[in-house]
Amino acid sequence: MKALLLINPASGREKVDKIVEVAKRRFLEKEYHLDIYFSKCAGDLTEKARLWADQYDTYITCGGDGTINEVVNGVMQSEVRPSIAVIPIGTVNDVAHILGFSHNLEKNFDIIFNTEPLPTDINKINDHYFVYVAGAGYLTEVSYKADRQEKKKYGPLAYLKTGIQGLSKKPFFKAMVQCNDEIYVRNVSLLLVLSADRFGGFRLPFFSKKNKLNDGLVDIRIFEGRDVTLLIKLAMFILLLGRKQYKQFHFTTGKATITPLNNNHVKWNADGELVTKGKIELEVIPKAIKFYVNPKRAKKLY
Ligand SMILES: [Mg+2]
Repeated sequence: MKALLLINPASGREKVDKIVEVAKRRFLEKEYHLDIYFSKCAGDLTEKARLWADQYDTYITCGGDGTINEVVNGVMQSEVRPSIAVIPIGTVNDVAHILGFSHNLEKNFDIIFNTEPLPTDINKINDHYFVYVAGAGYLTEVSYKADRQEKKKYGPLAYLKTGIQGLSKKPFFKAMVQCNDEIYVRNVSLLLVLSADRFGGFRLPFFSKKNKLNDGLVDIRIFEGRDVTLLIKLAMFILLLGRKQYKQFHFTTGKATITPLNNNHVKWNADGELVTKGKIELEVIPKAIKFYVNPKRAKKLY
C-alpha cells in the first residue's frame, strides 16, 4: 500500500498530532509507504487529490465531511482513482459514521489494513461531486450558517438551533422535477437527496427501503408546508428515523433534473457546502471510487 494522509489542520492540533503519530506507527509496522500532506487553504485538497492521483493507491482523509468532499472532487477529475479511507475529526462526521469509522484510531487502521475497499457511487449536482447529501430549501442552508463555536459546543444540536431560528424566513419554491420519465411540480420547503442513512448527525435508517451505496440510485424526499406544520414534519422525520410520512413525495432515481419555477436564487447544498443556484442536473455515477468500509456497515449498505 502506498498511501497519502490528507489532513485538514483546521480540525484541531491535538487530535491531528495523535492521528499522525498512530498512522506513522501503524504504517511502519506493516512496512507500507505513507506520506502526509496538510491542506493550505479551502480547495487545496481538491487540487492536490487530482494532481497526485496516479502516485498513490490510497488517500486517507483526515477531517470532517467537507474534507472528504474536497478530496472526492479531486479524485473524480482523475482517470486513475486512489481508494479513500476516512479518519473523522470535527463535530458531525456523517460520512465517517456511514462507513463505520469512529474515533477509535487503532480500529480505523485495522479496517484499512484488513479489508478490501468497496466500489462506491459518487453523486453529481451540475459539475460538483458529492458523497451523501444534497438539498435545497429550509435546513439545507443551515450547515454553513451554523456558527463554528456552536457546532463545537452543541454538535448536531447547533444545526437544529440555527434551523429553528431560520424557520420564520421560510425559504420556499415551486419546483419542476423530471425523473424516471415523469414530470412532477411540487411546492418545496425542503428537498433532500440522500445516498445513505444519515444527515446532520441524525440516524435515518428508514429513509430508504433499498438504497445501497453501490446501486446507482439515490432517494429524494420533498417536504411541503410552512412554519409550525413544517417544524412538526421535520421533528417527526427525525423521531421516526427517516420514515416517509403521509402523502410525502419520495422517489428513488439515478438521474433527475430539478428546475425552480418561481425563484432563480434557490441555493443548493452538497455535503454541507453551498455549490450552485437555480436549475440542477442530478446524477449518480455508479461505483466511481473505492472506499474502505467497516464490514458491519458494508453488510447493510452494499
Ligand atoms: Mg444508492
